[in-house]
Amino acid sequence: MLKRKIFMLHCCFFCLFGAPIFVTVPNQTQTRKIRLFAIFCPLLKRKTFLLFCCCFCLIGAPVFAAAPCRAQTVKIRLFEIFHPQSLEIYAAGRNVPANGSATHFTNTRRPQRISKTENAERLLICPLFDAAPSWVRIVLNNSTLQIQSANGSRSLPLTDTVKVSANGDYLFAAIPNPNDPKQKAKSERKMAGNSSVAARPYAGALQIYVDGDELCIINLTPLADYLAGVLAAEMPQAEFPALQAQAVVSRTYIIKNRQRHLQDGYQFCDLTHCQAYKGKAGVTPEIRQAVTSTADEILTFDEQPIEAYYSSTCGGMTADDAGVWSNVEDQPYLKSITDSAKHAEFCSSSPHYRWRARFSADSLHQVWQRRLGEQITSITVTKEGADSRVRELALMGNSLHLISGEDFRAVTCRVFGWNTLKSTWFDMQIEKRAYLFTGRGLGHGLGLCQYGAMEMARQGYSYREILRQYFPGAVIQKHLKNRED
Ligand SMILES: [Zn+2]
Ligand SMILES: [Zn+2]
Repeated sequence: MLKRKIFMLHCCFFCLFGAPIFVTVPNQTQTRKIRLFAIFCPLLKRKTFLLFCCCFCLIGAPVFAAAPCRAQTVKIRLFEIFHPQSLEIYAAGRNVPANGSATHFTNTRRPQRISKTENAERLLICPLFDAAPSWVRIVLNNSTLQIQSANGSRSLPLTDTVKVSANGDYLFAAIPNPNDPKQKAKSERKMAGNSSVAARPYAGALQIYVDGDELCIINLTPLADYLAGVLAAEMPQAEFPALQAQAVVSRTYIIKNRQRHLQDGYQFCDLTHCQAYKGKAGVTPEIRQAVTSTADEILTFDEQPIEAYYSSTCGGMTADDAGVWSNVEDQPYLKSITDSAKHAEFCSSSPHYRWRARFSADSLHQVWQRRLGEQITSITVTKEGADSRVRELALMGNSLHLISGEDFRAVTCRVFGWNTLKSTWFDMQIEKRAYLFTGRGLGHGLGLCQYGAMEMARQGYSYREILRQYFPGAVIQKHLKNRED
């Protein structure tokens, strides 16, 4: 808005001062003919010019000024976890709620609700299909990329890219039969419990091409839509100030990490590796409001976007960035803080506030045996941080292996599930050929504690106060380089 105002002001100045000067200056160098014209019609000329300037102000300037405000498009890779071999896309019917949860159809071909409305909405496919169909299936065969729809089918070379958009607000995309062994999820991740997929609604367009032996499905969507989808997936139900705080943190993450998957040809994945994203599923008017009410706001330190980390539950004290990951530089706003006021810990209502986990020694040793390629006989904690998190473990096999706390947690969780070894804030004991873990919190514990933020919001804190609590020293600023609206 500010940019637009400055531009309008500039135009008005031009009209008032620039235009009369412009009209008089060329008189000195005019040819005879022009000079004659100027003698007879100086008034007319000036009036025409002024009229032109006014027209430019009223019509041209807003168009001109609007150009740099065009919504920024984000590229997100979808469904990578399922190793997709085919994809079904449906035009969204008007009776499918935008904020409703996605229609699950793990084993059915087409969701009933959508097929009823197939005349209402159409898909636009590039390269051009004969007519805009209401659904399309893209299948990766051995040597071709097949496009099938009610209008017929067509084969494309494997090097082609298909782009699908909807004439309505959004479309539905789904992986048919994700449990099909031909379309098996990547082994370790599948074991973590991700074995079903929903037909998810997406705003914007989908770009599909072959990447190795699977389909690469990219969602091209405006930043504001992506952000709303991230909020719905990362903090589905929360008080408004907590949603606003999450919006600022997630936006900062997007701005800071736009190059995260650049080498892969997109910007973000739809997993927690970047930020969880399930399209428009679960996006409520309140979430939209949290995005628009904080539009363009990001957290900065020294005028730069901060490393905006967040996790579910810190367990009573956030983590200190020193030593959590080797690639994270120490930041003054990511130091360990006590997550409490008046002796009450904000995230104590979280189901992950305190937890226990038990793994048989054999199963845990086997996980690391597969990883390290040698038999493991014992695991011990060797180093703890000032924030009480485990920083290093020693795994004894034929040789000694030192593993960082976060790596130990990540590898263990990939096999046993993300809700088992919930954080690195734990005590480990060995009992009857089993490892017993007693821990606090869920996630890495750096930055914003989501359960803590929700409790702060319940207690009446504003989103600015919540952000001050978890990122001390960081400042909220408007990031206007790529506007959202
Ligand atoms: Zn990612
Ligand atoms: Zn907390």
